[in-house]
Amino acid sequence: MKRDFSTVQRVVVKVGTNLLSEHNGINIERIEQVVTDIVALRERKIQVLLVSSGAIGLGAKELGIKSAVKRIALRQACASIGQPLLMSHYRTAFKQHNVICSQILLTRSEMNQRKTFVNLKNSITTLLDIGVVPIINENDVVSTAEIGTAFGDNDRMSAFVASKIDADLLIILTDIAGLYTKDPRQNNDAQLLTEIVKIDDTILSYAGSAGSVFATGGMKTKVLAAKIASTAGCATVIASGYEDQVLSRIHSGEVLGTYFHAEKTLKQRSRWIINSSPEGTIWIDAGAVEALRHHNSLLPSGIVAVEGVFHAGDVVMINKVAKAVPYYNSTEIMEMAGCQSKDIPKHVRKGKADVIFRPEDIVFLDYAE
Ligand code: GLU
Repeated sequence: MKRDFSTVQRVVVKVGTNLLSEHNGINIERIEQVVTDIVALRERKIQVLLVSSGAIGLGAKELGIKSAVKRIALRQACASIGQPLLMSHYRTAFKQHNVICSQILLTRSEMNQRKTFVNLKNSITTLLDIGVVPIINENDVVSTAEIGTAFGDNDRMSAFVASKIDADLLIILTDIAGLYTKDPRQNNDAQLLTEIVKIDDTILSYAGSAGSVFATGGMKTKVLAAKIASTAGCATVIASGYEDQVLSRIHSGEVLGTYFHAEKTLKQRSRWIINSSPEGTIWIDAGAVEALRHHNSLLPSGIVAVEGVFHAGDVVMINKVAKAVPYYNSTEIMEMAGCQSKDIPKHVRKGKADVIFRPEDIVFLDYAE
C-alpha cells in the first residue's frame, strides 16, 4: 500500500543513544543531520517534537567511564552531567538554521496526573505554535522504577508524548532498518517488514523477548511504543537513522523502515485512562463486568474487594480487564462494597455521585480488538 503522510501535521521524532554516540563522545555530524532533517520537515509546515536520549552516555563519557553504567544513582548522576551537554549540541545545531529549541524533562507521573498533563500539553502546544522545537528526555535524575515514576525507555515515552499531544506520526530512528521477522544480525533469511496493520502477538514475537541480545537493541520497546501510538490514532515508522534525510523521505511516502498503521482513535480522556499506571484494583463480580461491557455504570453491589490505596480520580484496574477512574477513594469504596442501591445514600457524601464510576470513566484493555 502506498504510504500517504500528506495530511500529517504533528510529528514526534525519537533518536536513541546508539545513533548519537561514537567512541569518544557525541556524534556531532549525526546531530546536525537529524536537526537539518527536522528543519526540512518544518519547512513543509509540520510541527516537530524531538525525543532524544544520550544524556547518560554523554555524562559517563565526561566522567571518563568506559564500561556500561549500571548502578541507578550513578546513571542518574551521569544524566545530570550529560543532559546540558546534549542540549548544548542541539542548540548549536538548531542555531545554524535560526531555529530555537527548548528542553522538557519528563517523568511518568507528570503524564499520569491529569492536572500536570494538561499544563504540559498547554506548554508544548504553545512552544510549537511559536515555532520552537521542544526536545524531550526522561528526567532520569528524579525518576526511578522503584517509585513507579520511570518510563524506563525513551521509546515508550515518545509514544506517550505522541499520544498525549495528538501527533499523527511517530518516527523512531534507530541503528537497524526496521522490524524484521528474525534478528537480522543472526539470521540471513530475516525479512524486513515494511507495513503492519495491526500489532498482534506474532508481530511482537518478531521483536524478540526482553533481555535477549536482539532486544537490548530495543526492538521490543519500539514495537510496544508503536502499539501505544497506534491505539492513540498515531502511525509509527521505525527506520534507520543512518539513512540520508530519512525524516523527509519518510514523510514523502518513501518505503523506508517499518510502517505501523494507526488504529481507531480513542477520545483524549480515554487515552489518558488507558496510558496511566493504575494505583489499585477494584475487583468486581461477573455480572458487574457484563453490565460495564453494556455501557452501564459501576454500582457498589457488584464490588467484591478493593486492593491498594487510591484517591478519588485516580486510575485503577477493574479486575484485569479494564482501567477506570472512580469518584471515590479506596476506603470509601471498601465501605460501600456489596451494598444495595437503596443503601447507597448512607455512604454517599452530599453532592457526590451515586455510582462508583460512569461508562465514560472506563476503558476496556481489549477495546481495540
Ligand atoms: N534517558 C536516557 C538518556 O538520555 C535514555 C533512555 C533510553 O535510551 O531509552 O540517556
